[in-house]
Amino acid sequence: PVRVRFCPSPTGNPHVGLVRTALFNWAFARHHQGTLVFRIEDTDAARDSEESYDQLLDSMRWLGLDWDEGPEVGGPHAPYRQSQRMDIYQDVAGKLLAAGHAYHCYCTTEELDARRDAARAAGRPSGYDGHCRDLSDAQKSAYEAEGRTSIVRFRMPDEALTFTDLVRGDITVQPENVPDYGIVRANGAPLYTLVNPVDDALMDITHVLRGEDLLSSTPRQIALYRALIELGIAKQTPEFGHLPYVMGEGNKKLSKRDPQASLNLYRERGFLPEGLLNYLSLLGWSIAEDRDIFDIDEMVAAFDIKDVNANPARFDLKKCEHVNAEHIRRLDVKTFTEACGPWLRAPFAPWAPEAFDADLFAAIAPHAQTRVTVLSEITANVDFLFLDEPATDEASWTKAMKEGSDALLVTARAKLADAEWNAETLKAAILAAGEEHGLKLGKAQAPVRVAVTGRTVGLPLFESLEILGREKTLARVDAALA
Ligand code: GLU
Repeated sequence: PVRVRFCPSPTGNPHVGLVRTALFNWAFARHHQGTLVFRIEDTDAARDSEESYDQLLDSMRWLGLDWDEGPEVGGPHAPYRQSQRMDIYQDVAGKLLAAGHAYHCYCTTEELDARRDAARAAGRPSGYDGHCRDLSDAQKSAYEAEGRTSIVRFRMPDEALTFTDLVRGDITVQPENVPDYGIVRANGAPLYTLVNPVDDALMDITHVLRGEDLLSSTPRQIALYRALIELGIAKQTPEFGHLPYVMGEGNKKLSKRDPQASLNLYRERGFLPEGLLNYLSLLGWSIAEDRDIFDIDEMVAAFDIKDVNANPARFDLKKCEHVNAEHIRRLDVKTFTEACGPWLRAPFAPWAPEAFDADLFAAIAPHAQTRVTVLSEITANVDFLFLDEPATDEASWTKAMKEGSDALLVTARAKLADAEWNAETLKAAILAAGEEHGLKLGKAQAPVRVAVTGRTVGLPLFESLEILGREKTLARVDAALA
């Protein structure tokens, strides 16, 4: 059975790269009817925060990426927060030391730096040189007597190591490129290099799907796995698949700190989880050559890690918005209306709460649904219905109110006052008013739009007027003329 994991560190805000990793693991698990383990890698007390932990869980729930084992859900390998598993890591480190797979290293930072610089200058590999690999007991005691502390280092095998990456194919690394590495700090704190593979082993993880930035740690982890298997701690080495980098503006790697990368931003702007997930799935994967829009069930049905492309993917905000807009169109109107809820209330809505009218909103919703890209756009598109006076800004006013606008508005007002009140007849009225002044429909409707809605762009005007009603429409035209 497939067992995958999503194992973020709770530092900072969740970002789109992290969500892409979560999504691919989730889709892989669901496709294979496997298990998604959600593990929190919070062993770095200086950088981890409870706030970030809460945000991670909240984000996963908002996205609808459910997990089968992990925080709040529990499972046979609990606890799923590494900060609560410290004795496990200590125990494993002890076993690795006892079996000779790891050793105490007494080198100071200054010594390491000096030897590294010398190796570089001589054109030799500059990684750890194995200085403490085979210290005698006497040498160790001497170092300890000097008051030196030690870290625990894992002993890498001396042969080349080959593995098959599910995305990239065969990868071989030479031993001089993967030196012995630290697994426990001098203060006894276990490092990512130890706890991540140890937990993958103990949690029976079968596939590790993660970002390309972690590719360089894979040979080390495979070597550690082999030691764990020998010690009876691991059953098997998982398969690894490294997801391509996500590039942002200027073809630079999208950084966590890039504002475009922040998941919260997408939530605040009113992306639908399904729209965002659809777009993120395209970062390194595709369902078919000519298809961009699909829902998550289709992704699950089609997802195969072998189809993931090794080339860097480009994050394109415009395309992301386009995909989201398509998902907004796909909602039934009731779901759309509910989804708009937050943007129809404080702090987003500029109107008084009692001014909101659900029937008016229901009437305008279908027109809005085909036009908004993200849900937050709804507020400005419908505020003319609920504000006492339209939210007119100087720029729109000057843009629409040209020479002759007043004359046009006077004619338009007279025709509107006599018209039957539906979108079609209102259109005919404005068309006729325009004709009297030698204006095409577009030019004729601009001052009316600004007078009534306060904006130069918005939802279809005649439907808007119909829904707003005769009385308010005429009053606003009068106010614009006053
Ligand atoms: N906690 C690690 C990270 O967030 C997990 C890396 C991995 O998937 O192995 O980078």
